[in-house]
Amino acid sequence: MYVFTKEGICDWCHTPSYVTKHEYIDGKCHHSCEKCLSFAVMDVRQFNLAEIELRNKMTAQP
Ligand SMILES: [Zn+2]
Repeated sequence: MYVFTKEGICDWCHTPSYVTKHEYIDGKCHHSCEKCLSFAVMDVRQFNLAEIELRNKMTAQP
């Protein structure tokens, strides 16, 4: 569930707007406006998946 109650600048289109927070598993976060939401969700999901894969590879190595 995404709520757009915070005023800020969208990290995807760099336009001042009401934004929602997206958290990355490495602790970083970005904000997106409603227009960029689907794109942002996809981006964050891909980043997190890549990060998980990287961590799995790192822990799998001797
Ligand atoms: Zn945007």
